[in-house]
Amino acid sequence: MHLLLELELVSVRLINNRIYLDYNATSPLAKSVYDWFTKGDLPFGNPSSIHSSGKKSKRLINESTDYLKAFFNLKHFDIFFHSGATEGINDIFKGFAFKCLSEKKKFHIVCLATDHSCIINQKEHIELMGGEFHVLEISKSGEVNTEEVIKYINELSGEILINCTLVNNETGVIWPLDEIVNLKAKTNCLVHVDAVQMIGRLPLPYVLSKDIDFYTFSGHKFGAMKGVGFTFVKDGLDNWTSLIRGGGQQMAMRSGTENVHGIYSLKLALVEFEESFNYESLLNSKQFLENSLVERFGEKIRIISKDAKFRNANTIYLIIDGAKTDILITACDMAGIDLSSGSACSSGAIKPSRVLMSMGYSEACAKSSIRLSLPYQYDLEQIKIVSSKLIEIFSRFIK
Ligand code: PLP
Repeated sequence: MHLLLELELVSVRLINNRIYLDYNATSPLAKSVYDWFTKGDLPFGNPSSIHSSGKKSKRLINESTDYLKAFFNLKHFDIFFHSGATEGINDIFKGFAFKCLSEKKKFHIVCLATDHSCIINQKEHIELMGGEFHVLEISKSGEVNTEEVIKYINELSGEILINCTLVNNETGVIWPLDEIVNLKAKTNCLVHVDAVQMIGRLPLPYVLSKDIDFYTFSGHKFGAMKGVGFTFVKDGLDNWTSLIRGGGQQMAMRSGTENVHGIYSLKLALVEFEESFNYESLLNSKQFLENSLVERFGEKIRIISKDAKFRNANTIYLIIDGAKTDILITACDMAGIDLSSGSACSSGAIKPSRVLMSMGYSEACAKSSIRLSLPYQYDLEQIKIVSSKLIEIFSRFIK
């Protein structure tokens, strides 16, 4: 019997006829978003226009804004929408740099070697603007030593902005928010939290600390549209200025006509997510899959960051010694399973993971790694089927 048909009969949740295990790269559209679009009664007016059609669009933006502030308990923060975390984080870093430049202040940006490329690759621009860009090393477990970071920051002089990634997109390792809040208290530098991989990976409720200066999210990681994201900015913050200048939309924090449909999809997706997410079920599924792989293959596979104190509920990052990432991905692909090797790369080419190598793994290890990132709706029955399929495929490569 054809694999997909067989799986359908035993009710694995298929997405477009695929077993989709690449949620850290992106998620499929939430049903509520899909239904809204296909119903067809979409607003079209420019939200800045004062006629009824414009007001209808504006109302949807306001609804999303209010919902997001309430959902994250950040009522007193400002929020601006953008095309996703890459843009949002560039706005924050370069907006900070512009502000320091205009005030002729010395400035630093600090991040960790395991941070996303949209952070690491700003080094050149920040240095061009006269700032210092610091990339701190990280241990093989992928865990951040917060006290060491605090010590490092306190030895710098000038204006400082640090990026703290709440959940790493490749390893699934968490930098706990209370440690980040402690860092803020002990350094008083500006703190940006990259919260892109939070939703669907950590338990609800998502109550965020008011002590942090910025939080950035991308909608496509939790069922909203691709190309829309949002950043919370602490109310009254005066050591940051907006990067994108134009018509002054969004309180001039990000000019340009708003992506009304994308912005409303954020609310729709989060409402659906909140109603359906079962953290325990997801965590049990991940643990079952991980234990099954360890039981079957023992030391022939290595689970990255397995002993880290805080890991998320959906990510398993594996090194399969002797196997090649591209061949493993192709074998899974042919069996109807989508997974990847780490961060999604724009070229579609598979490069050895920069993140793994920054944690001290060799290039050979990085070329033998694959990442499974589970949907937030999985339960034990479904993962049992997926697990046996993966074991069958991996067995061909592990002798
Ligand atoms: N930060 C993290 C942790 C991510 O995982 C990603 C995307 O994978 C980004 C930032 C960038 O998000 P986007 O590609 O939506 O701009």
